[in-house]
Amino acid sequence: MNKKNTTVVIVGAWPTGLTAGVELARRGIQTKIIDQLDGGSKLSRAIGINPRSLDILKPSGVTEKLLEKWIKYDSLTLYNGDKSWVKLPFTIANMKYGFNIMLGLPQNDTEAILRETFIRLGGVIHFDTELSEISQTEDWVIAKATNGEEFHSDYLIGADGVSSKVRSCVGIELDSVKLPGVWSIADVEVEGWSHITSTTICLLKKGKIAGILPLGATRFRVVSNTKETLSALPLKFKLLKIHREWQFKISLSQAKEYSKGRVFLAGDSAHTHSPVGGRWMNLGIANADDLARRIAGEAPLSEYSQKRYEEDTHIIKGTEDMRKLLTSSSPTQRLLMLSALKIISVVPFFKRKWANKFLYAE
Ligand SMILES: Cc1cc2nc3c(=O)[nH]c(=O)nc-3n(C[C@H](O)[C@H](O)[C@H](O)COP(=O)(O)OP(=O)(O)OC[C@H]3O[C@@H](n4cnc5c(N)ncnc54)[C@H](O)[C@@H]3O)c2cc1C
Repeated sequence: MNKKNTTVVIVGAWPTGLTAGVELARRGIQTKIIDQLDGGSKLSRAIGINPRSLDILKPSGVTEKLLEKWIKYDSLTLYNGDKSWVKLPFTIANMKYGFNIMLGLPQNDTEAILRETFIRLGGVIHFDTELSEISQTEDWVIAKATNGEEFHSDYLIGADGVSSKVRSCVGIELDSVKLPGVWSIADVEVEGWSHITSTTICLLKKGKIAGILPLGATRFRVVSNTKETLSALPLKFKLLKIHREWQFKISLSQAKEYSKGRVFLAGDSAHTHSPVGGRWMNLGIANADDLARRIAGEAPLSEYSQKRYEEDTHIIKGTEDMRKLLTSSSPTQRLLMLSALKIISVVPFFKRKWANKFLYAE
């Protein structure tokens, strides 16, 4: 089959769907995205973009545009309560994907760049179009929308998030566990906060944590596994404005398989985990890239489901290990972790190993 004649419909125009769209369109594959929303999102949700994602998005020119807007995260600063404990640089890591830093940008800005690039490459987005049904034969897929429109294609990608309609339409089961407890987030303007290129985490009593991440010269994201993130953070700065505050619960979920016939899952429709380590959206970007390459004939499409499932399971486990360690309520475990981090911070070999693990999930 001439891959240039291949057609793909993607459900979901947020980071996973847009990345898949960009990666398919730049390979000359005719791609349409449908989304139930009436336009782009204004929500800043995921803010950390890792080196792997920057590498994936380089050939399309997206990375260059991201770099014009970014905030650089070059280290992790850890506090024990309100006392500075260690600063661990990312920049000591190997240059695995051409970057040894994380990039910080609100998700809606990342999406706007992806959307512009997708359209520039000839991609088409149908907003106000909600998927209701999918039918497929051996040769094609038909997606039906609630407004009566029908979309015929060779393949369909479900990048429609955690409550995926695509997943339920094709009957893929989801293993899912809701973790106890509530997390809270605030996007704020502050004055007098000194760590403007570092992500900061404070370890609090009884397994609680609170972190602050830069989003601009005076704009920051505060996050915590408590109900009131701003009062949980034990550090001092002048709060100028609260843009938005919200709470969320963490679900650990993974689809039992990532494909059914000509229909494929990617991103949150296939898995969710905690924001610890900033891998969540990045894993969706990695899924989208992998799937686009396979649809374009650069690797076997039939192996997508199993290969991605295994790789994602490994990443989700690593993220969970990190979350459990950081939020452990055992005083002994916390003391051991603090001592280990102190040692890591003064031994260059361990410091590099830690930075590689954090940035590249090695
Ligand atoms: C509070 C919060 C903080 C987060 N922080 C981080 C972080 O720091 N780092 C990180 O990496 N990740 C983070 N994430 C996760 C990140 O936001 C998600 O991983 C990412 O948005 C998933 O992208 P997606 O494109 O797979 O799905 P989604 O973003 O959920 O997008 C799904 C799209 O599908 C559309 N859709 C759904 N159903 C239909 C339908 N029936 N028909 C048509 N369209 C449909 C929706 O309108 C939406 O546009 C955070 C998430 C939250 C909620």
